[in-house]
Amino acid sequence: MRIYLDTKETELVSVICNYCKKELPIENGILKAEAIQVKHNFGYFSKKDGQTETFDLCEECYKRITSKFQIPVEKKDITELL
Ligand SMILES: [Zn+2]
Repeated sequence: MRIYLDTKETELVSVICNYCKKELPIENGILKAEAIQVKHNFGYFSKKDGQTETFDLCEECYKRITSKFQIPVEKKDITELL
């Protein structure tokens, strides 16, 4: 979960892994650790039609969860770094 200082979500105050409750480091509103944010808008064919769900995972929990997949996640190397 992400906590912002204001309702416009401009200044990030806290990012907490939804799975393990670990608080990730933030300095001057900038996240200083890897966080995997998942945001999904449920559509017409879902029982949750019209609902948006969001959560964050720390990198360790992401690895823990995705390592249990029957089909591994697809990986691509990013060749262009900004
Ligand atoms: Zn975690």
